Amino acid sequence: MNMNDTIAAISTTLGVGAISIIRVSGNDSIKIVNNMFKGKNLETVETHTIHYGHIIDQDEIIDEVLVSVMKAPKTFTAEDVVEINCHGGISTTNKVLELVLNNGARLAEPGEFTKRAFLNGRIDLTQAESVMDLINSKNESKRKVAIKGLNGYVSNIIRNLRQEILELLASIEVNIDYPEYEDAEVMTNEKVKPKVIKIKEKLKKIINESENGKILTNGIKTIIIGKPNVGKSSILNRLLDEEKAIVTDIEGTTRDTVEGNISINGVSLNIIDTAGIRETEDIVEKIGVEKSLNLIPEADLVILVLNNNEKLSEEDKMILDACRDKKTIVVINKNDLERKIDITEISYENIIYTNTIDLNGIDSLKEKIVELFNLNELEQQDYTYLSNARQISLAKEAYQILEEVEKGIQDEVPVDMIEIDIKRAWEKLGEIIGETYTEELIDQLFSQFCLGK
Ligand code: GDP
Repeated sequence: MNMNDTIAAISTTLGVGAISIIRVSGNDSIKIVNNMFKGKNLETVETHTIHYGHIIDQDEIIDEVLVSVMKAPKTFTAEDVVEINCHGGISTTNKVLELVLNNGARLAEPGEFTKRAFLNGRIDLTQAESVMDLINSKNESKRKVAIKGLNGYVSNIIRNLRQEILELLASIEVNIDYPEYEDAEVMTNEKVKPKVIKIKEKLKKIINESENGKILTNGIKTIIIGKPNVGKSSILNRLLDEEKAIVTDIEGTTRDTVEGNISINGVSLNIIDTAGIRETEDIVEKIGVEKSLNLIPEADLVILVLNNNEKLSEEDKMILDACRDKKTIVVINKNDLERKIDITEISYENIIYTNTIDLNGIDSLKEKIVELFNLNELEQQDYTYLSNARQISLAKEAYQILEEVEKGIQDEVPVDMIEIDIKRAWEKLGEIIGETYTEELIDQLFSQFCLGK
């Protein structure tokens, strides 16, 4: 897409509302809007001023508007930007946009304004991602993370770490290039090692905090699993406090998956109720069963439900086995009925007893979730971490490289070889903030934005 085009889009939601904003950005934005504006000459006004007037189509008055004129470089895109505040409503808004396009602007792609802000160097990649997160944030925690990111907290953390690596690289370099230069400290593996470890530890802390942050931003992906009729749907309903899943007495009625969302301590729990796991000939049910087993690896949390009133069956044991490596809470339901299950056979740490008739134990289940994910502490933390999977995975790659570096030092690899790997880690961290990027990455990333941003 041509960066020289002047682009335009409706930046507000298209619907019935008091006002709508049409945003125009690029070299010709002021000229284009001036052509369709009756009021002051916008080409001669001061920057960052607002002007009352009318949008006209030849002689016809289209709307009464306020127009903001913001000249480069202190604008969202770092280009000349004009925003037309017109009356809300679909036809007025569309008509004004149509006129802007007829006068020479091109319709912006999703995220193109923010993409320009990035390409023009006004914000880095983490800040651009924060713009999107801010728009999409559905709760207070997400909003806090996003606005901190936008203000450059994440960038600063990464920049500081890169600076530290750069200084280490420089000191190694001096040694290699000027071995005779006596004032410079001779960089042996011995001297490099503690510095690498220090950087590695800092990075580890960032990654850990980021993973907590991801829980805040993306919620906890939870699945409820168990054989038919143990009370999965009832538990989901109690958690959701609404009758979303249909509870019945016939085994296997939750054929497919049912999903719901609750919020605990401001963290959202995205719960999927799976069909019962059991050996089955029923095709429909079989799809559901396979689906539920497939869901285990992706889940952050498994709620594994068993029936207090029954001995452990082969299926129960199979499910218990399948969840071995997962963060799992075993829920022994139907606690109002006689105990027939043998608890000693269940070698899981987190066991909760519930019954869904008088809600006994449902609160304990919620408390257990708070405990397992440190949700109390999470609330109080400073929100200064990498905010998405792309950033976290790059940080992990950098960490991996530093681990290799440390191992290399252990194995007495020559310091100039070590230096190459340290440089790789520095570059990986650079990708987080977009110091190095590919066209594909940028296109893919910004296409997730909404129109007009
Ligand atoms: P699912 O197949 O695992 O989703 O199980 P359901 O939630 O559909 O429940 C199966 C049956 O068990 C229904 O008749 C529920 O009313 C009943 N049930 C669920 N929880 C309890 C409980 O705590 N105690 C008793 N006595 N019955 C329950």
